[in-house]
Order: sequence, then structure tokens, then C-alpha cells
Amino acid sequence: MIAPGATIGILGGGQLGRMLAVAAAQLGYRTHILAPDRESVAAQTASSLTRAEYDDRDALAAFAAACDVVTYEFENVALGPVEWLAERIPVHPAPAALRVAQERVAEKRFVEGLGGRPAPWAAIASRADLAAALERIGTPAILKTVRFGYDGKGQTVIREPADADAAWDAIGGPSVLEGFIAFAHEFSILIARGSDGGTVRYDAPDNVHVDAILRTSTLPAAAAVLAQVDEATALAGRIADELGYVGVLACEFFVGPDGPVFNEMAPRVHNSGHWTIEGAETSQFENHIRAICGLPLGTTALTGRQVTMRNLIGDDPWDGALTEPGAHLHLYGKGATRPGRKMGHVTTVTR
Ligand code: AMP
Repeated sequence: MIAPGATIGILGGGQLGRMLAVAAAQLGYRTHILAPDRESVAAQTASSLTRAEYDDRDALAAFAAACDVVTYEFENVALGPVEWLAERIPVHPAPAALRVAQERVAEKRFVEGLGGRPAPWAAIASRADLAAALERIGTPAILKTVRFGYDGKGQTVIREPADADAAWDAIGGPSVLEGFIAFAHEFSILIARGSDGGTVRYDAPDNVHVDAILRTSTLPAAAAVLAQVDEATALAGRIADELGYVGVLACEFFVGPDGPVFNEMAPRVHNSGHWTIEGAETSQFENHIRAICGLPLGTTALTGRQVTMRNLIGDDPWDGALTEPGAHLHLYGKGATRPGRKMGHVTTVTR
């Protein structure tokens, strides 16, 4: 067990790190952020900050010496530095989880090997591959970069075969083509797995995305989601077991005609779990800290009949939430407002 008083290192400086640092502080831990960004909203709530590139070996060595355990809040950290740290200090989730989640082809193969079903897909390395894949998968389809996509970045919809040239011009590199799933609902499974292999799971939220960015998570989810939750949860559990995972794991699914369609996994706390701060007995952030420090996991029961989380994106107004009954406002402390930028969120719990 890594006892309270110890220092938790966090790779990444965004709002997920910020909320992890708050949860860690509540349990008596210190946190140390390592991130290259000029603005780190995580550092505003953490105990220390090292502003450095992830591959800066001197900075990494000092970071390893200053921390008792390391986690990450951002899955696009290069694998090399994380593996380097893991040779010197406990890193959770283990780099194997990051390796799988960073690369869409590896992720889909891994999940298929565990009995999961992604949308029909093909690995694409050339314009000719794309033509062949479009023949097989048909349209509409989505072309996604193999690496470094988030919030809809690095993906483009191909509505009809004539869109293929424009899509290839936009992506133009290692990618996957996915059949478009005409789903009525999207949901996510969040589980926390402890170092003893025990897991807890959260109720599955119904997630609504607009322009590929999460807008709302609502609980309880629609009946169509609830009917697929057990199968999706079992898959998330197999993923976590296979990876020897420690921490919070998020898996996103579409409600498919014959069961859950796996979209992607995130080896970290997740935006569709922000509602757990007030809407569950133990938040995803606290359970992640508990897991990586070897503490018992907390219960995840809903605290109300209904819970809704809405993201504040770009210049969405936030002040109305201050007078809304049952609403909990979270602002991330970001300096500049930009269209599509997640600035905060509001969770409403109906008891
Ligand atoms: P991703 O970054 O891959 O999670 O995609 C972001 C969002 O785009 C998803 O949450 C969906 O709303 C949408 N999307 C991604 N892939 C597909 C697909 N194969 N079919 C339908 N919608 C998709």
C-alpha cells in the first residue's frame, strides 16, 4: 500500500489531472504534475509541477525520484517515457494498457481476441487500401487516424464513395476505416480494478455526443442501453484482467442491433464519469487514486434517482448553474475560451 502522505505523479496537465489531484488531496496525498504545456490546469490544484517534455530524461529522472507512484491522465503520452518510468517506479495503469489504447488497430484486434465486437473495420495504409475497404464495408463510414485522435480530431466521415479522395487528403496516413453504426444510444462502462484484481463498476451513463464531443451523460440510461450493459461490462472486465489493469478503465460502446458494439477504450478516468463526483458514493477520481495506491475501492452506488452531467464547451454560459437547484458547477480554470474546448461541467443530482 502507498499510504496517504505519499506523492502521486501524474503525466498530463488537463482537467482530468486537476480532478485527480483534488481527489488525491482529499485522501491526504500530494500530487506532482509533469506536462509540457504552458498552461496546466492540473497544476492549479496539485502540489508541484514540472513543466517539461515527456521525453526529457533529466526531468523524468527527477520526477521518478520525487514520486512514489505514477499515473497518467492523457493517453497520447509517448509510450517510451512511460515504460522508462515503469522500470524505476510503480506506474498504473501499466504501459501495456497505454500501448493497446494508443493504436486503433492493436486495440480492435485485442478486443476482438477477448470476444468484443467493434464496428466492421479495415486497417488502411494507402489510397488503394481505402478503395478496397470501401468496397467491402460500404458507406457511410468513418476514416480515423490510427493514433492521437480525441474528441473527434483525426477522423472524417465518408458519406458516399465520392468523398473518399477528400477523406484521404484529410487523413492521408495510417488509419482505420470503420463502418458507420446508426446507433440510437451510446454508453460507456467505467470500472475500477484494484491491485488485488477486485473490480467495482459504475452504472452506465447514456452519452450524447455532438460533433464527436461529449455533451451529456445521463443516468439511469435508457432501457436499450441497460439491456446491453451486462455484456459490455463483462468485456470491460476481461480487458482489465488481461492487461493486469490497476485504476479506472473506460470503454465506450454503441447500442448495436445484436449487442454492444465496442468503440474504444481509455486507460484513464473519463469525461463520461465526471458525474460520479456528486452522483456516485465514490467518484471515479477517488477510486482511481485508491486503486493505484492499493487502498480498498469505494462503493459506486448512485446518490440520487437521476444524475445528469453536461459539459460546458466553448462559451457555453456557466452562471445559470449557480442558481439551478441540485446543480454542481465545475470550472476547469482554463485561460482562453475556444470553440470545442471543454471549459467545465455541471452535474445535477435528483434525489
Ligand atoms: P471516437 O473519437 O472514435 O470515440 O469518436 C467520437 C464519436 O464519433 C463517437 O462517440 C460517436 O458519436 C462518433 N462515432 C465514432 N465512430 C463511429 C462509428 N463507427 N459509427 C457511428 N458513430 C461513430
